[in-house]
Amino acid sequence: EEDPRIQGIRTRIRVVPNFPKPGIMFQDITTLLLDPNAFKNAVDLFVERYKKENISVVAGVEARGFIFGPPIALAIGAKFVPLRKPGKLPGEVISEEYVLEYGKDCLQMHIGAVEPGERALVVDDLIATGGTLCAAMKLLERVGAEVIECACVIELPELKGRERLEGKPLFTLLESL
Ligand code: AMP
Repeated sequence: EEDPRIQGIRTRIRVVPNFPKPGIMFQDITTLLLDPNAFKNAVDLFVERYKKENISVVAGVEARGFIFGPPIALAIGAKFVPLRKPGKLPGEVISEEYVLEYGKDCLQMHIGAVEPGERALVVDDLIATGGTLCAAMKLLERVGAEVIECACVIELPELKGRERLEGKPLFTLLESL
């Protein structure tokens, strides 16, 4: 039932308890990147899903969406657009603030990078509460793009981020606690 490549990916993700603060089970994908076969399998699973969907733009969320997004974009023939933390993009930007457990954060996108009517895929390494992906989708929708799906390697189902996406499709390779 489960794709045989998933288990290999799962075993390469290191879980670090109490990082960066007490109570957080940090899902570390840098250990997945050390295994080129497992890393390629993760990218391939996304590429197989999206290659026939006429996606014109892959939007990657800083920072780990910059690791998985570009190889997916190249393989499906889409452009890559980075969604960055404030103050990093040199051109004119639009911004979306979102609420975190403690305080606020913000994502920005270059104006002109995405045009109205484009078919977008949003990529990050992990969905927790879903706040980050919500902000990412809003940026794309504000410029008239259609978000086809959000894609992450890991889902933390206990945090119910999927519900926060309000019916927007979410595809994840595996779940963690
Ligand atoms: P959220 O907005 O709550 O869905 O959080 C998702 C963002 O925070 C992603 O960019 C993740 O990389 C990061 N993140 C949240 N929780 C974790 C975790 N337990 N392990 C690794 N990254 C996390």
